Amino acid sequence: MNLTELTLTELRTALRRGETSSVAATQAILDRIVEQDNEIKSYLTITDEMALEQAAAADRRRANGEDGPLLGVPIAVKDIIATKGAPTTAGSKILEGFIPPYDAFVVQKLKEAGAVILGKTNTDEFAMGSSTENSGYFTTRNPWDLTRVPGGSSGGSAAAVAAKMAYAALGTDTGGSVRQPASFCGVVGLRPTYGRISRWGVIAFASSLDQVGMFGRTVMDTAVLFQAVAGYDKRDSTSLNIPVPDAAAALTGDIKGLRVGAPKEYFIEGIESEVETAVRAAIAQLEKLGAETVEISLPHTQYALPVYYLIAPAEASANLARYDGVRYGPRVEGADMIDSVKQTRALFGPEVKRRIMLGTYALSAGYYDAYYGRALKVRTLIKNDFKTAFEQVDVIAAPTSPTTAFKIGERADDPLSMYLADVFTLSVNLSASCGLSIPCGFDSKGLPIGLQLIGDTLQEATVLNAAYAYEQAARWDQQRLETAV
Ligand code: GLN
Repeated sequence: MNLTELTLTELRTALRRGETSSVAATQAILDRIVEQDNEIKSYLTITDEMALEQAAAADRRRANGEDGPLLGVPIAVKDIIATKGAPTTAGSKILEGFIPPYDAFVVQKLKEAGAVILGKTNTDEFAMGSSTENSGYFTTRNPWDLTRVPGGSSGGSAAAVAAKMAYAALGTDTGGSVRQPASFCGVVGLRPTYGRISRWGVIAFASSLDQVGMFGRTVMDTAVLFQAVAGYDKRDSTSLNIPVPDAAAALTGDIKGLRVGAPKEYFIEGIESEVETAVRAAIAQLEKLGAETVEISLPHTQYALPVYYLIAPAEASANLARYDGVRYGPRVEGADMIDSVKQTRALFGPEVKRRIMLGTYALSAGYYDAYYGRALKVRTLIKNDFKTAFEQVDVIAAPTSPTTAFKIGERADDPLSMYLADVFTLSVNLSASCGLSIPCGFDSKGLPIGLQLIGDTLQEATVLNAAYAYEQAARWDQQRLETAV
């Protein structure tokens, strides 16, 4: 049995049947990381010793007749999520050497479910970016083409799953950071509804938009991981105290009568023709499976980008005020206190500094109403667009990103073109819907294309089931497993 080829679901079955052990699977993945990750660079930290200990513990639990949703399954965690005893940098030099004394809620949930934690994956600094090029450490490469970006900010997690260096991974999605890299790397990426998962221990970027998401090689794998980590926790007052659906059981593949909306504002000039063709073909496939498609309109789509780039930097500027060299991470000693703070904060990279400046400006007296206040009002209009749309349809289908993976360096000096990579994902975050990206084909360069399926608030199971039906019919997942590096 080639252990790294198995999906998470297949590994669970093999473990349950006693055909393999968690130690064997963990070792196989760690070997693969040694073999592949010098090139791909998806991990910032590999917690190999801890992983093997957790794997041995999982095997002991199984030998005692225990089971768990992820018992013995090796998973990767984005480095913006706190892990007790393992470095957590958020991709920033300002947190270099920070070892949290506690686990984030989602890491606690992973451990309760019996998962093995392989290490911490690369991210754009504080999750600000769409390519991992803003990481304070290095750029991750796309496993399909090493000259290209894996997307971002959760690019390390997406690349690790695509290159079979983890069975699944956690990321975060504030404006598209799970769905866009999933699309670029040819894996499934789910962004659950805001509040669905406690963010306790997730380093804050933009608090009204941040949410943990997950990557899997298949829809089923993604659903299993979602279910394992989702839930309420009193330490995050924005988390929702409502039951988590049995997402895996909801994957019947039956979508007869499902109403699928194709928003006309998402099929516009500027989108690559091969992306449009693949996404339209995927929608036709959903129709063949019994869905009804309807053209819909989300009239305020064009404002999503400016609204996001006011609200997210405004919140980030407040959240990042805490990095002063006193409470977390390294401190650069200066002549006096102010000088020390100044020099320590100079450890932020250029994109983070840009966002702090944008955000501070948007919130400053005299500009607050014109920028931040107005952005909040337009956000409500965007929310209302979705509310109206979900009165007509159950799921919205659109491209995840207007292009496939771009070249490393191609957009690094042009923030606006980088921001455009998320033009189709931002609205989900602004409107508190949920969404996922699923592979729907390849362009002529052999790069994966992503179909985005968006659901109403808390409708993760509906979205996952639509994706599952599509996956079972289109079977891009199998092509992916054969051809990824
Ligand atoms: N690319 C977007 C940004 O730079 C979204 C990032 C994210 O979702 N974390 O802000």
